[in-house]
Amino acid sequence: MYVLHPSLVVTMDKNMRILRDVYLGITNGVISEISKEKPKDAEEIVELPGRIIIPGLINAHTHVAMVILRGLKDDVDLMTWLNKYIFPAEACLNADDVYYGSLYGISEMLSSGITTFNEMYYFMEKIAQATIETGVRSVLSLGILDLVSEDRTPEKEIKKAHDFLGNLEKLWNIDKKLKERLFFAYGPHAPYTCSEELLRRVAELAKKKKVRVHIHLSETKSEVQQIKEKTGKTPIQYLESIGFLGENVMAAHVVWPTENDLQILSHYKVNVLHNPISNLKLASGIAPIDKMFSYNINVALGTDGAASNNRLDMFREMHLAALIHKGNNLDPKIVSAREVLKMATINGARALGLENQIGSIEINKFADLVVLNAKKVISAWPKHDIYSRIVYAMDRNAVERVMVDGKWVWVEGKPININIESLRERIQEIRDHIEHEIAT
Ligand SMILES: [Zn+2]
Repeated sequence: MYVLHPSLVVTMDKNMRILRDVYLGITNGVISEISKEKPKDAEEIVELPGRIIIPGLINAHTHVAMVILRGLKDDVDLMTWLNKYIFPAEACLNADDVYYGSLYGISEMLSSGITTFNEMYYFMEKIAQATIETGVRSVLSLGILDLVSEDRTPEKEIKKAHDFLGNLEKLWNIDKKLKERLFFAYGPHAPYTCSEELLRRVAELAKKKKVRVHIHLSETKSEVQQIKEKTGKTPIQYLESIGFLGENVMAAHVVWPTENDLQILSHYKVNVLHNPISNLKLASGIAPIDKMFSYNINVALGTDGAASNNRLDMFREMHLAALIHKGNNLDPKIVSAREVLKMATINGARALGLENQIGSIEINKFADLVVLNAKKVISAWPKHDIYSRIVYAMDRNAVERVMVDGKWVWVEGKPININIESLRERIQEIRDHIEHEIAT
């Protein structure tokens, strides 16, 4: 048994237990013991005096390879940003670009303690490969959309998703452990880029296969308007009317729900993935998270892609999530630091359907852990309420080590499995190439 001995463990379990001076025993990548006494069968004990251990953070919505497009265009709205800048740039990306971008993006995520990410993009095999090599976990949904060009059809889009699933299955067959690190989901991009037929078929297939569906939903006012003009319904009412909604749906953004929409989301137990920085930067708006809480909707936290953030940093995301709703509602009591850390851990696990495996520190869950050193952040002192300290006073510099599946993947400012220096050069070459392509 491999044993960690920190000063404090923030479990995020059902009782929100905070444990002082305990031993965390890890066997085959799983937390096998939590005890006050030194475990008898300890093979190695890592003393972590003064350190705080929290569960690995879960980035509930991202497009990891978009780090390549960071800062490509700032300070424009979503539709301009997508149509004029992002889609043309993405058309220049090849599979290798997405692979290197993913390696870099995952490294960046590790720097703020993210151990699992919920991904939607393309060249998904390459993102799977980057997940394997970096040692993290991901839920992978190949973005499918049939309304953007004439040659796309629901059949072809579904076939793409299933081809990817077939490739994942091959990986799972080679190494059973990979079935616990790579997860499949359907990724119909959004109600305004997918036909009704595609959405209906995805919903049916997902229910049959018992897998999750990842979709952008009610992100902007113009999306709501567009869907209303087309269907007479809000995007959420529209998805309900075609039998799309359910517990397996992970809806990113949900910035513009009506009261009735919230009742629908609550009724179908749809999971909301909140991305406050991206929503602010693209001026999409502020999602009514406090209202979602009152409807008992599960809300997880994500960064979205680095092209609309411009970081993949859960500490920044948590900080903003804890502040913005207070100011927006003139109510300091809503969206507490504790609730925000739940959004970044156990709520994320629930949204991804992985609440029995990750999201809290409990016996039989995977050892996905973040070791924080509060002394690395000057504002994190003196000691006080731990949720307040993490969300309001710390930043990612506090992240000293990150473990996934019982293995260290980030130690002292560097990923263990990647050479970040050579990767940095590669990323720059890709970016230079894209800028050249767009210019000509
Ligand atoms: Zn997104």
